[in-house]
Amino acid sequence: MLSQAEKHNASRTDLAFQRCINPACGATFDTHSIRTSCDRCGDLLDIAYEWDRLAVPKRLSDFEAMWSQRTNPIRFSGVWRFHELLPFAPQDKIVTVGEGQTLLQQADAVGDYVGVNAGNLHLQYEGMNPSGSFKDNGMCAAFTHARMMEAKRAACASTGNTSASLALYCSATRLMKAVIFIGSGRISYGKLSQALDYGALTVQIAGDFDDAMLRVQQVAKRLGIYLVNSVNPFRLEGQKTVMYRVLEALRWEVPDWIVVPGGNLGNSSAFGKAFMELKAHGLIDRVPRLAVINAAGADTAYELFERRGVRWNGGHIEMDPIRDYNDRMDREGLKADTIASAIEINRPVNLKKCLRALEVMDGVVRQVDDQEILDAKAKVGAGGFGCEPASAASVAGAKLLRREGVIAPSDRVVCILTGHELKDPNATVAYHTTDQDLFNQVLGSRGVRKASFANRAIAVPNELDDIIKAIELYS
Ligand SMILES: *Cc1c(COP(=O)(O)O)cnc(C)c1O
Ligand SMILES: [Zn+2]
Repeated sequence: MLSQAEKHNASRTDLAFQRCINPACGATFDTHSIRTSCDRCGDLLDIAYEWDRLAVPKRLSDFEAMWSQRTNPIRFSGVWRFHELLPFAPQDKIVTVGEGQTLLQQADAVGDYVGVNAGNLHLQYEGMNPSGSFKDNGMCAAFTHARMMEAKRAACASTGNTSASLALYCSATRLMKAVIFIGSGRISYGKLSQALDYGALTVQIAGDFDDAMLRVQQVAKRLGIYLVNSVNPFRLEGQKTVMYRVLEALRWEVPDWIVVPGGNLGNSSAFGKAFMELKAHGLIDRVPRLAVINAAGADTAYELFERRGVRWNGGHIEMDPIRDYNDRMDREGLKADTIASAIEINRPVNLKKCLRALEVMDGVVRQVDDQEILDAKAKVGAGGFGCEPASAASVAGAKLLRREGVIAPSDRVVCILTGHELKDPNATVAYHTTDQDLFNQVLGSRGVRKASFANRAIAVPNELDDIIKAIELYS
């Protein structure tokens, strides 16, 4: 007799499908359906493929040939030029606004700060994306699926960057209308301004991100709106390409460490899947280690993985410690609190997938406080390009792991800078300010005591001689 899962499988004809991440369940569903969880057991879903029947390039370097096809928008995109590694959509449905033209930069000054040897620290600037954050990698994939489903409206709850990205794709392509849920008072103006400017319908809930997240799921269900939050498995397919581009920039050499900030844990989950698949295809011979970095004020992944020993364990996750911790947060009314608003999340929706990634990539989780985040951010900025606070958690985390001896000076380390410097100018200006009141108001309230790497403006009278004297003195 066929099991239920096998019956599902038997009725499936597509080469791409959705599959429950729980190996004890393994139910599959075709890609022409909108789901955020498994019908049978409620777990998260992956996008899976019949790889044997698909044309996967023999070598990663085969993708270099795609560069000469840049006049084709699909090959211009830093996501879709790897289409063969996320082949769920027909070419004529693919949506692109030119995302993924990002760069990997060797950053020796930041490497000094972290404590690795010259040439060993690289920064992956995902802030170079059209909407200014890595979210575009995933949004173009989810948006493509929404188009396959002929959706008219798409929604998300967001700490800011997902909404900016969704709003951009909606306005640039005019394929659907964006509906955005935000919490109150916890969104940086750089991000909010994008959603408003791009014309998204913006709904501000009297609650925090976790509240907005709950509501958007209820509303999407009730009104049949396409949901693009990170529970959407198609988004994570697009986010795999961040890793392909890192490898590409390193001439297909695998680094020792990938260090990434952890919020909803979509990136870390996608990176784990990317490497799992590359290894299975025989396209790489080893997998880098993963470090997921939480903010100390939003450290659920750290608490569960490092303190309570929760593991993927081949898909048999021990749920009690997770339930206990969630109950405790409810009981004590614990709310996430960090200057790094993009990772100010206490109930990461992709937790289980992240646990899988940590297993596949022999990973670790760490937490860093706002002081460490802002100091690291100043170092990144001083090295050029810059990033928003959440992104700098990766650099602060690498420094911590180096101090602990987990990362060696000779290790080759890639820190993912998830969002653009200009997303959150308030935090940057408050860090560098000479105005103690501003510093206290924005940063002091979060336990930040000093700005060791501040680049302070110098105040001078409006007199030419004084101005010249000051410049000579300080330069
Ligand atoms: C969304 C976001 C994160 C968190 O990423 P997850 O994939 O949810 O862990 C980190 N940094 C920035 C800038 C973001 O926008
Ligand atoms: Zn299931």
